[in-house]
Amino acid sequence: MSDFDYDLFVIGGGSGGVRAARIAATHGARVAIAEEYRYGGTCVIRGCVPKKLFVYASRFSEEFEDAEGFGWHVGERSFDWSRLIAGKDKEIARLEGIYRRNLERTGVELFDSRAVLEGPHTVRLTASDRIISARYILIATGATPNVDPDLPGGEHVITSNEAFHLAEMPKRVVVAGGGYIAVEFAGIFNGLGAETTLIYRGEEILRGFDDDMRKALHEEMEKKGIRILTHDAFVAIEKAADGSVIGTTRKGETLAADQILFAIGRRPNIAGLGLEKAGVEVTDGGAIRVDAASCTSVPSIYAVGDVTDRANLTPIAIREGHAFADTVFGNKPWTVDHSLIATAVFSQPELGTVGLSQAEALKRTPNLDIYKTSFRPMKHTLSGRDEKMHMKLIVDADSDKVLGVHILGHDAGELAQVLGITLEMGATKADFDRTIAVHPTVAEELVTMREPTERLRG
Ligand code: FAD
Ligand code: NDP
Repeated sequence: MSDFDYDLFVIGGGSGGVRAARIAATHGARVAIAEEYRYGGTCVIRGCVPKKLFVYASRFSEEFEDAEGFGWHVGERSFDWSRLIAGKDKEIARLEGIYRRNLERTGVELFDSRAVLEGPHTVRLTASDRIISARYILIATGATPNVDPDLPGGEHVITSNEAFHLAEMPKRVVVAGGGYIAVEFAGIFNGLGAETTLIYRGEEILRGFDDDMRKALHEEMEKKGIRILTHDAFVAIEKAADGSVIGTTRKGETLAADQILFAIGRRPNIAGLGLEKAGVEVTDGGAIRVDAASCTSVPSIYAVGDVTDRANLTPIAIREGHAFADTVFGNKPWTVDHSLIATAVFSQPELGTVGLSQAEALKRTPNLDIYKTSFRPMKHTLSGRDEKMHMKLIVDADSDKVLGVHILGHDAGELAQVLGITLEMGATKADFDRTIAVHPTVAEELVTMREPTERLRG
C-alpha cells in the first residue's frame, strides 16, 4: 500500500463520498477527498435539506388558514423571502462545517479542489495541478440538472440549483417537469403565495409511482390552486423587456412568469472527469457502469451514488459508499439491495411509498387484493379544508404478502419510513390485521382495512 500516496482517494464530498471516506478511514485506510464546491454535496447544499426547509416555510400559509377553524384569529400575515434565505443559508453553512469536521476527525485529508482522473491510480487536483496516487479511487461526483441544450432561450430558465438563491421571491412561477423536483417546487412556490403552473409532457405527473396516487396528488395540487398542464412542453423561451420570462409551448400556449424552473431530470456528473484516460466505461445513459459491489470496468476505481444512476436518493448513495468502504477496507463484504426502497415525495400533500405500485405488482403476480381508502382526516373536520388522505395496500392474494403501501397525505413520508421496516420483514396482510390500531390517528386506517376494494385474478 505504501507505493501510493493514499489507500483511497475520493472524488466528490457529497452523501456517498463522505460516507465512504469516513468509513474507510475508520477501517485504518489513509484517505483523501476532493470537493470542488461545498462539502455535503447536493443533498445538504442544494437538495434535500434546503428543499425541506422551503417545504416547511410554504406549509404555514395553510396552517394559518386551518387555525381559524379551531378558534384562532391569526390576523395579518406577511412573508419575508430574504429572511427564509438567510435562515436557510445559515443552517446549510452549519451543516457544511459539521461535514468538514467529521471528515477531519476521522483523519481524512481534505482538498478544496476539483479532481480529475489521470489513470487507474492517479488523480490531478485542478486547483494546484498536483498529481496524487492512490491504491483505490472512488468516484462520487453526483449529478447535475438537465436543461434542454436545443431549447431556444434555454439560458433564461433556472433549475433547482438557482431556486435556492433567488434574490426575490417570484410572484409567478412555471415549473417544467413532472418528477420529484417539479411537484415539490410547485408545492413550495404555491404555498409561499406565487401563482404557480406546472407543465408536464406526459399524461400524468410522477411516472413510476402508483397510478391512483398520481391522479389523487394531481387533483389535490389543483385544489390548492396549482395549474397543471399535461401533454405539453416548452418549445421556446424569451425574456421580455419588463424582466418576465415567457415560454411558448408545443400546443401554442404562452406562459409568462417571473421564473421558469426546469426540473426535467438530472444527468450523471462525468463531464471532463477523465474517464477515458483511466478506461472507465459508461452506460448508454452516460452513467458510470458498475457491478453490484460498485466496481467500475477498472478494478482500482469504484463509483457510488447518482453518478451511477441506480436509485438517485441520498440514503442509497450513503449506503453504497458504506458498503464499498466495508468491502474494500474493512474485510466485511456486502452489497446494497436496491429492490425495496421506501421513498417520499415532499409534494403538498406529501406522498410516501414503499414497495410495488399496482401496475408493477401486476407484472410480477397474477392475483392481487387491493385495499384502498380515502377519507377526510379529523383535523379537516374543523379546519374545513377540502383535502383527503389516500391510502392503498397491494397484497399478493396467494401468499398474503404486502407488496406495496402508498400514502398521500400529511406525514406520509414519516409513515413510509416505518412501513419500510414491515415490508422489509416480509409482512403479510394478516400481520397488518393483527396489529392493534393507535387511535385517533390517520395511520390506524392502515390496520383497519378489512375487505379488498378490488380482487384482481389472473
Ligand atoms: P452529490 O451529493 O451530488 O455529491 C457530489 C459532490 O461531488 C458534489 O458536492 C460536487 O460538487 C462534487 N464534485 C463533482 N465533480 C467533482 C470533481 N470532479 N472534483 C471534486 N468534486 C466534485 N434525495 C433524497 O433522498 N431525499 C430528498 O428529499 C431529496 N431531495 C432532493 C432535492 C433536490 C432539489 C435535488 C437536486 C436532489 C434531491 N435528492 C433527494 C437527491 C440527493 O440529493 C442525491 O441523490 C444525493 O445527493 C446523491 O449523492 P452523491 O454522493 O451521489 O452526489
Ligand atoms: P425525475 O426523473 O424525477 O423527473 C424528471 C421529469 O422530467 C419527468 O417528469 C420527465 O418526464 C420529465 N422530462 C424528462 N426529460 C424531459 C424533457 N426533455 N422535456 C420535458 N420533460 C422532461 O427528475 P427530477 O429532476 O425531478 O429529480 C431527479 C432525481 O432526484 C429524482 O429522480 C430523485 O431520484 C431525486 N430526488 C428525490 C427527492 C426525494 O427523495 N424527495 C426530491 C428531489 C429529487 P417523463 O416522466 O415523461 O420521463
